[in-house]
Amino acid sequence: MRDHHAESIAGDKQASRLIVAIDGPAGVGKSTVARLLASRLGYLYLDTGALYRAMAWAVIESGRDPADTDAVAALLPTLSLQMQFHQGVAAVLVSGRDVSSELRTPAVSAAASVVSAIPAIRTWLLPVQRQIGEGGAVVAEGRDMGTKVFPSADVKFFLEADPNVRAQRRHRELVAAGHSGALEETSADLTSRDTRDRSRSIAPLVPAQDARHIDTSNLSATDVVDQMMAVIAAKL
Ligand code: C5P
Repeated sequence: MRDHHAESIAGDKQASRLIVAIDGPAGVGKSTVARLLASRLGYLYLDTGALYRAMAWAVIESGRDPADTDAVAALLPTLSLQMQFHQGVAAVLVSGRDVSSELRTPAVSAAASVVSAIPAIRTWLLPVQRQIGEGGAVVAEGRDMGTKVFPSADVKFFLEADPNVRAQRRHRELVAAGHSGALEETSADLTSRDTRDRSRSIAPLVPAQDARHIDTSNLSATDVVDQMMAVIAAKL
């Protein structure tokens, strides 16, 4: 599954092979920052949201209700999930089909947030994520990287931002990807996803105790990565 390593890791930074965990709610810039950081370090970028989105995609595709815990759990034994890395770009394959381009729609976002609260889904995805990160040299991004998936990560960050800034950022992304819809709608989607992510009983979105908090409201992605690099440099 992790066939990227030889190609993506270069230089003497590789010797450290750290696990960097980045968590936070939607729209704080996690993906952009994690991708940039991984590229600076020559590390793998592990987008765990894409794995939850792929599960949501599979649930929708099967015609099941994402909120039907038993029906979703029953689907799991029939699925296989793979993340393939080529030159820093990840493709997500569900039962052999590349669904990468179908994961960012509002319908999949909403369903991902629902299925991610199902314990069977989280249990199923845990070894998948750990296997990808096991060799280190990874920037892992999600909601429970520092608390649950990689509790011993070498460096942990928790990103936050003003809710209006988050909604605007996400809205711009959606528009750029060709989706229509009002800013208010995006804002409401973010709020409901957040509430679900923070209040679920299993692996809720909470900062790890040893995470460094960064408020990204008034920072560019490069500023955030610079701050992170200052922390990481001490560990390399
Ligand atoms: O980060 P992204 O918006 O792609 O994640 C989609 C959904 O997957 C989130 O709303 C969240 O419910 C879920 N998720 C999660 N744990 C993770 C990553 C994502 O519960 N580690």
